Amino acid sequence: MPKVAIIGAGLTGLSTAYHLEEKGFFDYEIFEKNDQPGGLARSVHVDGFTFDYTGHFVHINNEYFKNFFENVIGKTGFTKIVRDSQVFTHDKFSPYPFQTNLSGLPTDAICECIEGFVLRQKHLHPVDTFRQWVLKYYGTGIGKYFLFPYNEKISAYDLDKMCPSWVQNFVPSTTLANIVEGLTTEHSKQVGYNAHFWYPKRGGIQLLVDRLQANITQKIKTEFQLSSIDPTQKFVSFKNGDSRSYDMLVSTAPLNNLVDSVKESGNINFSAAKNNLLCNSIFGFNLGINRPFETNAHWVYIPEKKYNFYRLGFWNNVVPAMAPPGCGSLFGEVAYIPSHTSEKIAKQNLRNAIAQTKKLLKIQDSEVLVDHTLQIPHAFVTHNRWREENLKNLHAKLRELNIYSIGRYGEWKYSSMQDAVLDGRATATAILTRLGHVAPAAQVSRIPRPTSRGL
Ligand SMILES: Cc1cc2nc3c(=O)[nH]c(=O)nc-3n(C[C@H](O)[C@H](O)[C@H](O)COP(=O)(O)OP(=O)(O)OC[C@H]3O[C@@H](n4cnc5c(N)ncnc54)[C@H](O)[C@@H]3O)c2cc1C
Repeated sequence: MPKVAIIGAGLTGLSTAYHLEEKGFFDYEIFEKNDQPGGLARSVHVDGFTFDYTGHFVHINNEYFKNFFENVIGKTGFTKIVRDSQVFTHDKFSPYPFQTNLSGLPTDAICECIEGFVLRQKHLHPVDTFRQWVLKYYGTGIGKYFLFPYNEKISAYDLDKMCPSWVQNFVPSTTLANIVEGLTTEHSKQVGYNAHFWYPKRGGIQLLVDRLQANITQKIKTEFQLSSIDPTQKFVSFKNGDSRSYDMLVSTAPLNNLVDSVKESGNINFSAAKNNLLCNSIFGFNLGINRPFETNAHWVYIPEKKYNFYRLGFWNNVVPAMAPPGCGSLFGEVAYIPSHTSEKIAKQNLRNAIAQTKKLLKIQDSEVLVDHTLQIPHAFVTHNRWREENLKNLHAKLRELNIYSIGRYGEWKYSSMQDAVLDGRATATAILTRLGHVAPAAQVSRIPRPTSRGL
């Protein structure tokens, strides 16, 4: 019987395992439903082209993760890239972010954005919805031409019901000076959390997972899909018929699936959670073509509603090895909420998006070598009111049952690969404290202390 059972071998599960081992604790098992680890940070290879589950770029703004990336993952084989991201609107490509690069817009739209910013509802309080947050900090024009339509497409949700709790790290702020500067200079400053990023020189983001896995000694049990958890007996069963007892359970599976599999115990009732944890799904379509693209962009945001995809990315502009020599490859993203949109309509939207992309980029059918769509059933969790009001309590109840639900989908949050590594580390520490585990005296941390050397 393992003391700790980890469900899911994505980055969060692997990081939990790594950090348990780092403290000399090996009495755990890690169970993964797929036939390979990695979760969303996997890559697929089709006829010489490499695709991820849409763009997965490594952003670093945490000292521990910087050190972890350098010393555990290893920088060799990765390259640091200065972001070239753009916005396509009114038939023109402009640099990102939209709010400081308005010069490509028609004059009346520029005026609407500036006037809206000056007259923004600075004193609006409380700010309960994403729409109100935009009106308070950016104003009506920037909302109308970018932040509203773009976020309606990516979330597939009503912005008047979506809470703004996720925006802090992901939407760059602006000032009137920045807006004016962006009108008068050709390229405004690189801003935002992803101004530069790291990416494998070849093989896609899978390299990150492979390197982390290589630092773990326990064998991952693949094709072990969680079926049910009996928290009273501390007993977990899998769809393949296997089962285990445990002391502590760490789940990185989506929270709505987790609560569905926990046998109700005492006065704990999960039915409200099952009904109210909402999340969108994404089709990531990939095209490989027999020539390079004209653009150098890494990715392009597409706010206009006439296109039903919200972003296009160009794999071989990120690193050339993502496509065979002389070829180009792209990804596009279409989002929908399965409980709101039928699979049939979602697939029709996907087909339309691929057709629109070909038209926009003037790609002939005869030029397409590969057309490969990857589906992400849990992509962006919906920050609805229920989540804001109940999530903390739900996690506390689970922890009472010795269940730690962590990671992007376990915690039901908007987070990055860096966060996944940090979540695994924090959980390993919490669990070992609860188990009263003391690292052997000779155990030397595998991660050297942070150095002053930058990445
Ligand atoms: C479209 C998109 C683009 C993104 N781009 C970036 C980016 O550019 N940069 C960045 O830093 N982050 C990005 N992210 C976020 C990043 O993918 C995640 O933060 C990170 O990969 C989450 O890791 P995880 O282990 O928590 O979850 P996952 O990767 O989902 O791993 C969970 C694992 O659990 C397994 N599992 C699920 N259910 C069960 C079950 N019932 N039984 C057993 N196993 C189960 C899954 O198969 C999976 O392997 C992006 C996310 C999306 C959706």
